[in-house]
Amino acid sequence: MEKITCYIKERSLLARLACRYMGGGQIAMVIGKTIHLYGVTREDFLRNPYWVRHEVCHVRQYRQLGLVPFLWKYLWECRKVGYYENRFEKEARAAERNAAVMEGVIIV
Ligand SMILES: [Zn+2]
Repeated sequence: MEKITCYIKERSLLARLACRYMGGGQIAMVIGKTIHLYGVTREDFLRNPYWVRHEVCHVRQYRQLGLVPFLWKYLWECRKVGYYENRFEKEARAAERNAAVMEGVIIV
């Protein structure tokens, strides 16, 4: 089985900028294999299996497409249909209820 190693970065500047853009609250965003957090601790994030699955699904999307193609397609979807209808977000929301998304995943 393939192993996927994910990293967590707390108090991320990138996530802080995204947080400001999205209008506050707690935020997690993925760049490549790293989950960037802002407004939430690593412990609180990891305590929420739905949220972790959502972000791990994005890590898988990056792996599938590659860093730049993923970002490009993601932003294109956001522009075209908005954040909520973005197909990558739809897939990640569906993954929240699918424990299998965590198979082979190691969060360090
Ligand atoms: Zn998402």
